[in-house]
Amino acid sequence: MAFEGLTNKLQNAFRNLRGKGKISEADLRATMREIRLALLDADVNFSVVRDFVKKVQAKANGENVLEGLNPAQQIIKIVDDELTQMMGEETTSLIKAPKIPTIIMMVGLQGAGKTTTVGKLANRLKNDDNARPLLIAADVYRPAAIEQLQQIGNQINVPVFDEGTNVDPVKIVEDGLKQAKENHNDYVFIDTAGRLQIDEKLMKELQNIKEVANPTDILLVVDAMTGQNAVNTAEGFNDALDLTGVILTKLDGDTRGGAALSIKAVTGKPILYTGQGEKMNDLDVFHPDRMASRILGMGDVLSLVEKTQKNVDEKKAKELTEKIKENSFNFDDFLDQLQQIQNMGPLKDIIGMIPGMANNPALKNVNMDPKDLEKIKAIIYSMTNEERENPDVLNPSRRRRIARGSAQPIQNVNRLIKQFDQMKKMMNQVSNGNMSGMQNMMEA
Ligand code: GDP
Repeated sequence: MAFEGLTNKLQNAFRNLRGKGKISEADLRATMREIRLALLDADVNFSVVRDFVKKVQAKANGENVLEGLNPAQQIIKIVDDELTQMMGEETTSLIKAPKIPTIIMMVGLQGAGKTTTVGKLANRLKNDDNARPLLIAADVYRPAAIEQLQQIGNQINVPVFDEGTNVDPVKIVEDGLKQAKENHNDYVFIDTAGRLQIDEKLMKELQNIKEVANPTDILLVVDAMTGQNAVNTAEGFNDALDLTGVILTKLDGDTRGGAALSIKAVTGKPILYTGQGEKMNDLDVFHPDRMASRILGMGDVLSLVEKTQKNVDEKKAKELTEKIKENSFNFDDFLDQLQQIQNMGPLKDIIGMIPGMANNPALKNVNMDPKDLEKIKAIIYSMTNEERENPDVLNPSRRRRIARGSAQPIQNVNRLIKQFDQMKKMMNQVSNGNMSGMQNMMEA
């Protein structure tokens, strides 16, 4: 999971302060030292770390944290605020041109995920805003690049403009824009060429494209896995093209997180989106405040809620709420829930968004194996309607029958029923306003 090492180390840094009514200056110094090391280990830019530590220290002194009632929590709050600030404070959106089309020029090194991200972003605008984008294939150096963009266009049902590889990219962009105007496309994405490293020839070509296209946004796509290099790349592209923003890809991988934390501070340009996988809907809006909470292991409830809303059928959700209130949640609903959770993506990513759960050792490496889901389904399908609707009737002889019917050991049947009971109990508590369990988790 991204940021895992950083989250662990920061939590360790705070652990030493916990429970102390008063902390000494030496305690504070030791904590700051650990925070500094944690950030450096996460590959955050050296000068960014230095500034960060200075600011946190100054605030901690200024707010008289040492005299306060709960110093640990106050310091966590200061670190949270400063992390948010470092990543850009506010969520930044795409600029929208006053007249159509809005032109988005996408740049980046080869392999960063530029072409994939063009598809993801166009797909998002199409689905959320009913946009009618056009994609322009302006990478003429790799024939496969045009093909790749066409495949993506087909997949998301968005037209792609190309003129092969023997035409000057600047001319392709001019022609593509002409077509977009004729066809009243409201967004145009220019997929430009990449190189393995920044070179002058590429920068010149991109500057020429910028001049004729006069883009609304110039977005740099960088690979989070490359750490400090991502930051250097961002600096180089920004110097040459004056970017409007950055999209950080591959945040689903095991990145230490340094790029996410340093890019805004080093280049002054905000991160707008993050790539969270290879599929077309694996693109998330970047919210600095939510990311800071996640890094601190405090979860990201808002993103979780949004993810759920996208994947959950609203009517079903309403029915479910009613059922929970009436305490009539049954095995059919349970099955439904499991399937919806599976649709939301890898369970370990979702758990990372729940407060207090990111670093829960019991949940380390947790994953819902599709085979487990099949076993659960088999067990539930072997129940009669009466049993599914009214699990209280599941006595030992019925359980044995279900085990035989689903070809599962009796222990699996018992475990499932126990899990179901626990889930039901928890839901009941939450729906009755008893959130103390959750509150305990959130307390630092
Ligand atoms: P380009 O050379 O910059 O156009 O890069 P591509 O779009 O061809 O992407 C390079 C590789 O990275 C492809 O295999 C993509 O599927 C993969 N990729 C792109 N974005 C992400 C992401 O957010 N997460 C993961 N895991 N892979 C990604």
